[in-house]
Amino acid sequence: MAMNNDIIGIDLGTTNSAVGVVDSGFPLLLADQEGHRIQPSVVAYMGDDVLTGRAAERCPAESRVRSVKRLLGRKRQDLTHWDRPLNYDANGFAMLQLSEKEVSPEEVSAEILKALKKIAEDRLERAVERAVITVPAYFNDAQRAATKRAGELAGLKVERILSEPTAAALAYGLSSMGDASKIAVYDLGGGTFDISVLEIKGGVFHVLATAGDTALGGDDMDELLAQRVLGKTQFDSLADLEISQSQRLMKACQQAKEQLSDFEEVDVKLPFFSGERHLECTLTRGEFNELIRPLLIKTEKLCRQVMLDADLETIDTVILVGGSTRIPALRAHVEAIFGKTPDTSQHPDEAVALGAVIQGGILSGAVQKMVLLDVTPLSLGVETFGGLMNVLIPRNTTIPCKAGEMFTNAETNQRKMALRVLQGEREMAKDNWQLGQFSVEFQSAPKGQARVGVQFSIDENGILEVLARDTVTGEDTVVEITSAAVDVTDDQVESMVSESVEYAFEDMSERVFTEARLKAEELLPAVEEALAQVGAELDADMLREISQAKREVEESLGRNDANALKAAVQVLDHSTEVMAAMLVEKAMEAITMETP
Ligand code: ADP
Ligand code: MG
Repeated sequence: MAMNNDIIGIDLGTTNSAVGVVDSGFPLLLADQEGHRIQPSVVAYMGDDVLTGRAAERCPAESRVRSVKRLLGRKRQDLTHWDRPLNYDANGFAMLQLSEKEVSPEEVSAEILKALKKIAEDRLERAVERAVITVPAYFNDAQRAATKRAGELAGLKVERILSEPTAAALAYGLSSMGDASKIAVYDLGGGTFDISVLEIKGGVFHVLATAGDTALGGDDMDELLAQRVLGKTQFDSLADLEISQSQRLMKACQQAKEQLSDFEEVDVKLPFFSGERHLECTLTRGEFNELIRPLLIKTEKLCRQVMLDADLETIDTVILVGGSTRIPALRAHVEAIFGKTPDTSQHPDEAVALGAVIQGGILSGAVQKMVLLDVTPLSLGVETFGGLMNVLIPRNTTIPCKAGEMFTNAETNQRKMALRVLQGEREMAKDNWQLGQFSVEFQSAPKGQARVGVQFSIDENGILEVLARDTVTGEDTVVEITSAAVDVTDDQVESMVSESVEYAFEDMSERVFTEARLKAEELLPAVEEALAQVGAELDADMLREISQAKREVEESLGRNDANALKAAVQVLDHSTEVMAAMLVEKAMEAITMETP
């Protein structure tokens, strides 16, 4: 077979997987010989034979491995539940124990990937070597590395590991949405729930917040239905059935559930379910909706959490991802949560794969990006406190343009402020390109009181001029940035933009950590000082609570753990409220005493 530069896109899902490629400019998912575009993520080991997908589903239960994605890059302490014996390798990573041999989760995943690669090669009639593979947003380094290794074991060069919500947003064509659109990606698959809020500015993705539950999905609904069916038909409880019986029942309930997305009523019929006894009953959509309500409420809590974390009250678009979002009651619930009718223009169980395909197409050059003229190709901004990138002019702003913002001093009696002018799409200043640097002087003032206005303007020729004004004295510093702000090559723009997509989630956690660290560094000395002043008047419980909260903050600072630090800072803030009130009271007393 001839070699080529195709890059296939793969959604390696917990329950189902899919593959596709950009062909003649169109992103397509590729079907197997039976016409299925979605393959169950199941592998069966039968002696020397390895089967995958639907063929594996038909093999005896003992030889099958399902949901192997849950084990990828995981160690003993990460795993709460697995229904088979597990071993651990020398580094502590989980290994699956099969009847005759031991296999790693990467090897099992590689079998799924090999099958997908083969589907692509059969359909394209040429060899395929390169791929983009998606992973959940919350996957850590070890899980991403394991996914990449699985790809390599399958004979694929993994060009990118892409986060699932970003992929879905690409598939829904949201990268070209209006400026600063806020998007919620609601993903309910077979075994996991993920909710992410993204912001898209000029084709660049920023992740504002994410949350999820790794043990919540369509499988739980199947189980609830199975229990209902057993209750109605007076068979044994699920736990008392033989494995083959319970699997037969679960499969039937999964089918019934899927049919209930289209029909008001379904019949479940399992002849000779137990000896001579047949199992037969009818399920209605109404009773199914009732059963899954607690699950929907669980997802609702996480959605509210993520909106709070992202500091948003409304969003512009909600997109649905994952097979379980085909359920009508779920769609209605999501609409109620966000006050927006979800966008259902894509197949929810294909969106992630399609996004991976599009990203593959962009990387291979199969998707020609529109080149916009007379716009800023990349965002321009300055570095602010803590090394964060503060964008003044977003990418794709039409030139000429002008934008400004007010900055203040971080320290008392500071006389000078260094301004680094940056270009790029990453959240941290260090990951962007520096166009220039200069310093502005201003009159000394207490912390947070000096005012320096910074204005960027880009003229018709793309020349960037930066003006900094001390608002107290009215003194201006004007600097022309010679390195071109507009004149970057398409390749440079491409690599910056795809980096921002690739690192969106890492960038978010780094930003969350930096913001929490800045807060912690302000809070810790303030708490020390308050303790010195009114500590003696606090009761023992409260003192203990405060010092415990302080320790948490210090420890999570040391551990570099963004979410833990954010939470710890909130706890410390909260636990010192009473003390803060006492301080204020004390200060008031002092004032009243001074006034004659
Ligand atoms: P994952 O991301 O976990 O690999 P999918 O997004 O493919 O999986 O979702 C699989 C889940 O979606 C399964 O629980 C399946 O039963 C469920 N599902 C698929 N189609 C429907 C449907 N029409 N109605 C309800 N649930 C469905
Ligand atoms: Mg999925």
